[in-house]
Amino acid sequence: MYARRLARVLLALLCDHYETVSAGVVQAPWQTAFVRLGDHCLTCPTCRVMDDEGANLGLPCETHDRLYDAYREAWTRARVAHRRPAEASA
Ligand SMILES: [Zn+2]
Repeated sequence: MYARRLARVLLALLCDHYETVSAGVVQAPWQTAFVRLGDHCLTCPTCRVMDDEGANLGLPCETHDRLYDAYREAWTRARVAHRRPAEASA
């Protein structure tokens, strides 16, 4: 599925920045979820499976999906909360 592959690409990007975020002060719920997701993708044997060329195979992982959904939900909530309701047109 394209969406799933896209999620994997995004996750690879997230993992690149994982150390930066985890080294800082974690405050917002989405940041906590982000660190959890990054922590998982760095340690989960399933998520880390690669082919001979070092490309991630993107094997299905229920824990990853759950953490990723939690992160997206928290991130969406943070963005909605950041937006001013008055600016939204009815
Ligand atoms: Zn995993």
